[in-house]
Amino acid sequence: MGGRSSSIQKASLSALHYAGIDSLAAGLSRGTGAIFALHHVLPATPMAFAPNRHLEVTPEFLDRTIRLVIERGYDVISLDDARVRLAEGDLARPFVCFTFDDGYRDVLQHAYPVFKRHQRPFAVYIASDFADGHGSIWWRALENLVRNVDTIELKIDGTLQHFSCERPAAKARAYVAIHRWLRRLPEDDAREIVADLCRHHEIDVSGLCGELAMSWAEIRELARDPLVTIGAHTRRHVPIGPLSYAEARAEIGESCARVGREIGRPCRHFSFPEGGVGPREFELAREAGLATAVTSHSGLLKPHHASAMDALPRIALNGDLQKPHYVKVLLSGVPFALDSGARRVGLRRPSAATA
Ligand SMILES: [Zn+2]
Repeated sequence: MGGRSSSIQKASLSALHYAGIDSLAAGLSRGTGAIFALHHVLPATPMAFAPNRHLEVTPEFLDRTIRLVIERGYDVISLDDARVRLAEGDLARPFVCFTFDDGYRDVLQHAYPVFKRHQRPFAVYIASDFADGHGSIWWRALENLVRNVDTIELKIDGTLQHFSCERPAAKARAYVAIHRWLRRLPEDDAREIVADLCRHHEIDVSGLCGELAMSWAEIRELARDPLVTIGAHTRRHVPIGPLSYAEARAEIGESCARVGREIGRPCRHFSFPEGGVGPREFELAREAGLATAVTSHSGLLKPHHASAMDALPRIALNGDLQKPHYVKVLLSGVPFALDSGARRVGLRRPSAATA
């Protein structure tokens, strides 16, 4: 998510808060649940160029959010318990689950102690290539590249373009333009282009996965705590929608099998990487025998999700929106109701919960 869309989202959420919508809607949201989607938890560090900052929240914000949901009467529960409540229609008390995608080390370092202090559960979805230390975290590779060079030349849609990267504002513009274009390409092409650019500029990103993602030993350390659920998030961290049937099946099945082998118990939960997913992918998750599968579609859990455990929506806790009143408005469900209303009348394209 770029700076501009974050600003629009901030303005909308603030407007809803100051209009008292979150308080009015608090009653309506009771009896439902929510699954929060997060990525990184890191102490705040002032940096002029940090294009992936929206994927980070601070440990203090995480702590405040846990306290806020508890104060507002939500139970913080595990994905297994959420499944039971949905399946049994036990929705007398609202609940939230906290989930982290990709399996970054900062979750172990900075999120785990917060949940431990509160004695509340959370889940981490592992992309097995990341844990093996050889996956492609290409959006971070691109960030490293733009941070460390003064100019980038790149053929975009057949036209050679020059991006100045001399000052933070220029770096931000270059990152957004290149990232936006790469996101439109097939995943493997985007990875290859970033890898080529890094090679060309002699930016070594070979250690990025090992630096950012938890190793299997660290994942096993987390998994030993009954507060922690370890789920899977594909092998290669690829959008599943564009894959062939066999590849899609393998990305789900083999990542779950690998996680299960590593932690010594079945992996029952899965998170679809961002990208279009639909009936075929949900059917594959069902076939894999998963208890739940979550998507990047934004929304609250409703009773009808009892029959859609393989397609559960989430609410992204965006690093650009680290204010309690944003969380209150998101939990009201009103932004998602407005968004789907806007989509029905053709004002807005479907939005994704994660970047
Ligand atoms: Zn992911």
